[in-house]
Formats: sequence, C-alpha cells, structure tokens
Amino acid sequence: MKESMSFSGQVRPEDVRPQPFLYLPFQVPPRTARIDVSYSYSDPKSGDFGLDAGNAVDIGIFDPRGLSFLEAHGFRGWSGTFRREFSISPTEATLGYIRGPILPGQWSIMLGFESILEQGCRYEVKVELTPEDAPEASPEAHPPSAEHQPLAEGERLAEGGPGAMVASSVVTAPAPAWHGQSRGGGWFKGDLHCHTIHSDGLNTVEEIVTNARELGLDFLAITDHNTITHHEELARLAPGTPVVLIPGEEITTYWGHTNAWGLREWIDFRCTDSQAANAVARFVLEKGGLISINHPKAVGPAWMFQDADGYPCMEVWQAPWRWFNWESLERWDGLLQQGRRIVAVGGSDTHSIPPARQMHPHGLGEPTTWVYVPGPLTEEAVLDGIRQGHVFMSEVPAGPQLYLTADADGDGRYETLMGDSIEAREGRVAFRVRCRDAAERRLWVVSDGAILDLLQVDSDDFVHEFSLDVAGRAYVRAELRGWRGRPERGEVVIGMTNPIYVGTGSVNG
Ligand SMILES: [Zn+2]
Ligand SMILES: [Zn+2]
Repeated sequence: MKESMSFSGQVRPEDVRPQPFLYLPFQVPPRTARIDVSYSYSDPKSGDFGLDAGNAVDIGIFDPRGLSFLEAHGFRGWSGTFRREFSISPTEATLGYIRGPILPGQWSIMLGFESILEQGCRYEVKVELTPEDAPEASPEAHPPSAEHQPLAEGERLAEGGPGAMVASSVVTAPAPAWHGQSRGGGWFKGDLHCHTIHSDGLNTVEEIVTNARELGLDFLAITDHNTITHHEELARLAPGTPVVLIPGEEITTYWGHTNAWGLREWIDFRCTDSQAANAVARFVLEKGGLISINHPKAVGPAWMFQDADGYPCMEVWQAPWRWFNWESLERWDGLLQQGRRIVAVGGSDTHSIPPARQMHPHGLGEPTTWVYVPGPLTEEAVLDGIRQGHVFMSEVPAGPQLYLTADADGDGRYETLMGDSIEAREGRVAFRVRCRDAAERRLWVVSDGAILDLLQVDSDDFVHEFSLDVAGRAYVRAELRGWRGRPERGEVVIGMTNPIYVGTGSVNG
C-alpha cells in the first residue's frame, strides 16, 4: 500500500525573514522503494525571468543523515521553483535530485520562501511513499536515454537517465580522478558559469560540453543552481573531451549568488547573513576549491551580503557587457581603490543554446575568461591561475586578447603578470600592454580609479609601453573599449585585465 501525506500552511512576508526556510519532517518506513513529492502555492510568479509580481517558493529534500547548515549530509536535491514535482528511488531520480537508497527514518522537505506577496502565500505539499513490494509499476516509465530527447521537452527530461546522481557515491566515493590534459604553458580560455537541465537551463550537459569544444574553449565550469547532480555527467564526459571540465555549483541564496569551483560535493546555500556567507566561502576554500561573488549588480540578482569579505574572486563581467556590467566594474574598481585584491573573472551564465529554445541572445564564452597556466593544463592549474589573478577577459572566445605585464626589476624582461605585485620602492617601472585582434578599439590604462592613458589601437598586434612612478599607487590595469550598435549607445568594454598591484600583500589579501 502506498502511503500518502500532505502538508499545507500559510506564510506572510514577516514570517520568512530573516529565516526563509521551512522544514516539513516525515517518517519513511523501512523497505520504501520510492518517494514522490509534488507541491503548489498561491499566486506564483510568471514570466521567463521571474520578474513579475508573485510568490516564489523553492523546494528541496534531505534524508535522515542530517540537514545542519554546512553539515547537511542528508542533502538529496533541490529544484528551486522550476519543477512542481520530483521523485527519488534507488535507481533513478528527477534531475537535480540524488538517486540512491531510500533510508528509513525522518526525511524533511525544505521550502525556501524566496519572495512572498504582502497578502501572504498558501502552500501545499504532497508526499507519496511507495513500498518495495507495491504490486503496480511506477506511475511513469522513464526512458533510459532521457538525456538525448529533444530539448523542448525539458520537463519530461526531468527524471532518471544517465545524468542522475547516486546518493551513496556522494557520501562514500573518493573524488574521481578526472584526467589531466597534456597541453600546457600559456594562456587558456574558458567559461566559468553556465547551467543545464540539472537546474534551470534547457540544455543537457553533453550539449553544453560539445558546444564548448566547438568554440575552442580549453576549460568549462558548469555551475547549476544549488545542486551537483550534473557532476556525474561531467565525470563521464571528461575522458572524451579536450575541454577541462570543472565541477561547479552556483550557490544561489536570497541575498546574492556565488560560484564555487573544484569541489565534488554539494555546498550549502542556506546563508541568511554575511557571517554564514563567509562560512560557505571558508568551507570551499579550505577544501581546495575556489569561490566567486557573482554578478554584483542590481539585475544580478545583486550581492547583498555587504560584510562578506572572504571571497577571493568577483564576476565583474557576466553575460554581454551591456547587461549592466558597468555597475559591477564600478563596484570592483572601488574595492581595488580601497586596497582590496579581488580577482575579476567573467561568466556567460548561459542557460540555453541551440537546439534548445534560446532564453537569452548569447551563449558560451560571452564573455571568455583567459587564464595563464605555466605547466600542464589541468583543472587544478586553471583554478590556481585564477587564484593568482593571472586572468583577463574578452567579449568572445575569438578575443580580443589583452596582456598587461611589467618589468619590475628593470632587467628588460616583462615577467610581472596581471595579478602579481610590484614594490612601491621600485620607483619608475616599465609596463607593457599588448592588444591582439583589437584594431579600431581604444585602449584604456587605468590606475587607482583614474585614466592614465587612452589610445587608439591601430593594428591587430598593438603594443603600448610606458613607465610610471608607482609610489603611492594601488594598482594599474587595462581595458579595451569599442562601439557596439548605434553610436549613441556608447562604447562597451570588449576586453579587460586584472590589475598589477603595487605594494606588499597578495591577491585576496
Ligand atoms: Zn546567478
Ligand atoms: Zn547563473
């Protein structure tokens, strides 16, 4: 006999701030084969980007292994607002949920109240437990090759298939040793931010990886929202692709988003204040991963943990430049002027590319992040290059390329890279900016919030050298700007470097 239960209730905005998560515990008896959950709530937001007024209630689930913040070993999946039902069994689960043993004991549905109308929100959650010896088959049959179905059928892809992750592997398996690439020594390009059908994207992992390869990207991070069920698919595809695939998660809180790269475990997103946001950053960094504040601009959504200072990177460029990136640039430059050292990175935040219906007009590599890797190209080497700030960005994978270097010791070799520091006591220092494929663009050299130089680039391999007394300065960086569309719309940034810093301290210090 199947066992059904339901939960319902009403919340008002004041009930869910500052604590927006509600847990609905229920008992799962031994020998349960499958859990099905569905839910609904009043006045849901509509529209492609959730910009309309309305309620938004996220959903996720934990098994009996626990749900404490940053120690939630029982995490079994999350789907935000983009699915109204999900299921978990030992052999299959809805994308975003982790298949595996249905452990007996207390499970908990988690509701996350992202936004609630003044008049409040009524919710209803239904849970159905199917015992192992249930006579009838599962209510729906799931094609084994669901990942290869047409993309417009996104909702029907939701369950099972090779992309679903096994719970036990999350808990017990060592990190899979994804093979390193043999190429090395030089600048490599990639995209650090995109989504698949494992969260709110419309493409399979395989489609995204194939597109990255076609674009000539050297590395790619897939960062689905608040889940890691796409990692298993990345591990499966890694041996057959020249693209270094970096496991990621976009930690999506109600006060801003961050991207974590390099961990092979789920990272908690239930931050409600700056202290918790810093704890998440420490969790990632101490385990050898890397983490970035995402799209810190009003349309981001914005980053509102004002006192979270534990983040070594910032996504200063998300999606094409005109998507309000001036605001992120101003924020980042303000931090640099205060002496903070925070690595600027880019991310396309791609959610859909052909053959899926395109939700946005851009795709992978818009922008592209370029990283200097001194030895073999591996995931760890890419992350280490980012850690050191050896990074610039271009509007597309084809460039333009923008290299800022300095000859700090006056030996004629420009071995100081963006992200590195030079000492103020060096006095006058020679700098060199090299712009490739940037003819007709303008080069801006910026120091401490002011323009040092503004030049017309007149060739496809343009070099600008200058010397500067660095005493009293915090940083020097470069941008390429050019016209896009109608002249009255003004210039956009088409390339930008990380700074060369002045003085002691290190990146992220
Ligand atoms: Zn985001
Ligand atoms: Zn995103």
